[in-house]
Amino acid sequence: TKRVGFIGLGAMGLPMARNLLRNGFELHVAGPRSPGSVEALKKEGAYTHAFLSDMISHCDVLITILPEDREIKEVLLSPAVLGGLRSGSLLIEMTSGSPEMMKRVHAAYQEKQILVLDAPVSGGTAGAEKGTLTVMAGGTSEVLERARPVLEAMAQNIFLVGSVGAGKAIKAINQMLAGIHMIAAAEALALAEKLDIDIEMLKEVIGKSSGASWMLLNKSNSISTRDFSLGFKHRLMKKDMQIAAAEGADLTLPLATLALQLYKMSERDCGEQDFSAISKFILAE
Ligand code: NDP
Repeated sequence: TKRVGFIGLGAMGLPMARNLLRNGFELHVAGPRSPGSVEALKKEGAYTHAFLSDMISHCDVLITILPEDREIKEVLLSPAVLGGLRSGSLLIEMTSGSPEMMKRVHAAYQEKQILVLDAPVSGGTAGAEKGTLTVMAGGTSEVLERARPVLEAMAQNIFLVGSVGAGKAIKAINQMLAGIHMIAAAEALALAEKLDIDIEMLKEVIGKSSGASWMLLNKSNSISTRDFSLGFKHRLMKKDMQIAAAEGADLTLPLATLALQLYKMSERDCGEQDFSAISKFILAE
């Protein structure tokens, strides 16, 4: 498990890959995607390959953290990747995707005797940089133990939450809450601004009261200064709310439904900004 390939070197993937290098793993990355990240990691000691298929033949563990289901399918079900990995190797799939796509990938990899861990994360880019992510792992305990040294280089909290697909499911529930909580925090701040309440005081008091949320405590400052730099892309949050909505299609989820509508309505304006940019539609100018 020392030779690790990494696909998806974006806001999360790049700092996660750096932590693998820092912890002594032999890191393999490939172009042509994310050329800036590939170049930076090369300077820091990663092995770089021109083609994905070259990289795949050099690794025992493959980590993927891609935008969504579409890219999971495109990359993990491609002949270059699925056909290139040796039997007995390990796939750690960390994207926030759907449970259904994860199970589909699992079935295809099982046929080739490739082990699979469903392992989405929470903790944001700050957690990725500090190596303090939370992993919501779906799979067997044997596969988790095999993956553990790699995960521990990137994460502080590792939970086994069920079989493959359960990681994606609990992540979708987390994102449903996070998406709703972001809008709730923006509404609280709109009221606080109107009532002339100091943000630091608001956080201190509500932090010890029943209305507290992670979003209110951690995102209030950037919301109130209108600093919507990334972070976590608004369009990825919309995608997560869509996953939750699809899973809960037969349930009554009024807040999740409304929140998804708000993310959809605001996507054209702020899809590439941090998801806190949704507060532009709530706060006064
Ligand atoms: P980014 O958009 O920053 O990164 C996505 C990366 O995937 C990019 O490097 C992109 O390459 C690469 N990519 C896209 N398509 C392909 C492909 N076909 N082949 C190879 N590489 C590809 O997203 P994030 O890092 O923010 O998010 C990744 C996942 O993690 C998402 O599912 C997100 O929901 C989840 N997540 C994000 C968090 C955050 O705070 N940002 C927190 C927790 C989870 P290129 O640059 O060339 O397009």
